Amino acid sequence: MTQNPNALRTIAIIGGGSAGWMAAAALANAVGRNIAITLVESDDIGTIGVGEATIPPIKSFNAALGISEADFVRATQGSFKLGIEFVGWGTEQSRYFHPFGEYGANFDRVGLEHYWLRERQKGDTTPFEDYCMAWALARENRFAPPTGSPRDVRSTHAYAYHFDAGLYAQYLRAYAEQRGVTRVEGRIEHVARDGATGNLTHVRLTDGRQVAADFFLDCSGFVGLLIEGALATGYEDWSHWLPCDRAIAMPSANTGPITPYTRSTAHAAGWQWRIPLQHRQGNGHVYCSAHISDDEAEAVLRANVEGEPLAPPRRLKFTAGRRKRAWNHNCVSIGLSSGFMEPLESTSLHLIQTSIERLLLLLPDHNHDPLNAEEYNRATAQEYERIRDFIILHYKANTRGEPFWQACAAMDAPDELAYKIKHFEAAMRLVSPQDELFRNPSWLAVYLGQGVIPHSADALADARPQVDAAGHLRALRQMMRAAAETFPTHDDFIAQHFRSKAMV
Ligand SMILES: Cc1cc2nc3c(=O)[nH]c(=O)nc-3n(C[C@H](O)[C@H](O)[C@H](O)COP(=O)(O)OP(=O)(O)OC[C@H]3O[C@@H](n4cnc5c(N)ncnc54)[C@H](O)[C@@H]3O)c2cc1C
Repeated sequence: MTQNPNALRTIAIIGGGSAGWMAAAALANAVGRNIAITLVESDDIGTIGVGEATIPPIKSFNAALGISEADFVRATQGSFKLGIEFVGWGTEQSRYFHPFGEYGANFDRVGLEHYWLRERQKGDTTPFEDYCMAWALARENRFAPPTGSPRDVRSTHAYAYHFDAGLYAQYLRAYAEQRGVTRVEGRIEHVARDGATGNLTHVRLTDGRQVAADFFLDCSGFVGLLIEGALATGYEDWSHWLPCDRAIAMPSANTGPITPYTRSTAHAAGWQWRIPLQHRQGNGHVYCSAHISDDEAEAVLRANVEGEPLAPPRRLKFTAGRRKRAWNHNCVSIGLSSGFMEPLESTSLHLIQTSIERLLLLLPDHNHDPLNAEEYNRATAQEYERIRDFIILHYKANTRGEPFWQACAAMDAPDELAYKIKHFEAAMRLVSPQDELFRNPSWLAVYLGQGVIPHSADALADARPQVDAAGHLRALRQMMRAAAETFPTHDDFIAQHFRSKAMV
């Protein structure tokens, strides 16, 4: 077969954090035989070094690369994640679980949640999460993957991972280098453009070396060396909806069982993450600098970390938003260079994954058809905005008393989110598009968990009084509790199959 004479021959990836090495591994796997791939990174500058909680689609990224779960979890000191426990988000006393997977099984044509609401209106106080297998396991610190049998309640949970992001990047670096990716170490001081087309031509390092390419991936982190520094693409600022603009991260020693879930605890002007790994816990305080000083925020983190700190705290600054065009000229920005939303729902690594997958679908040739970039930018903007709205919901739907939280509750939601909330409040109607990352169970978890309780259940549920909802719901709870007892503890599951070599 003759090759397209216009095909790309060289791609340069600028940056060697999670974004750079995930892109290098995926490109090497997909097109490494025909396209020479070079990655430039600077040891002096280093990487952001956080990014430890994920969502279930990460499994398909690893699988596409042929990486086995056992290898990956061992290499990254990984643990398993069934969802996120939110503490103090709706009110200061509230807590709820955002699970991976489904609620139920449904026992009627009307959704389980409508019968749950009907029973609640009659006085049943059982939280909705009690009808979810992921929580039945998480609260007991138990874990094993779902069974493949759809009729078994033990098939209804899903899972992702917690892992050490630095170790993941190292693992992917070895993978990519074995498949021909060339790594160049050094600091870039200049990005050159073609005078006629405006396209990028090469980068120059401080020692004078040059790396030229037909196409560039900007994986340089918040600085956006190519997409902003050279191409001045512009940034859409979302801090009026997501006002947290700083974080302090600090790892600590494990103190008890490794929980199979992330915990997010609300504080007076932000929230704290706790991510359990095999060898330590990742912790951090995300906060709004208009409402709390850096020193106060650090004190809050220190006061609420379990276990001995293992490293000094690291302070980070950011602005929620996205690059106006993720693809500009012959450059695609991936990772922090293309935008940032706080890690509340662990979506950044996922956005890196989908950016890479989208790029492979729309890979250009030398003609640089603008339609490729147009479609890439449309889909990226839509994906970012839908995730943004889901994160905003966590802030908007709160009844806490502090000025930060009151300001969040009072803000105007984006139009699409306002529409969703209105329909949910009225009749528990879920109006998410089918291709949205966060599906109905996720929206239900956050609405109900944060105290958005609809005025009325689906009329169809009310029109079916013959359905013994109370009996079905009781049976479901008992079935899930009994099923959970058959699972190993998370610690035992890791010890049996996935213990990292460093831990043996
Ligand atoms: C507080 C916080 C918590 C987070 N938690 C999560 C989470 O739980 N889950 C999740 O999915 N994501 C999380 N993220 C996001 C996640 O950390 C990033 O998406 C991920 O690490 C990718 O970063 P990156 O590769 O884009 O940038 P970086 O890690 O910053 O890498 C940038 C690279 O560019 C190189 N570089 C920069 N300038 C130059 C130069 N001039 N010359 C040469 N090289 C250069 C650097 O050396 C480095 O290799 C979090 C982010 C923050 C800020």
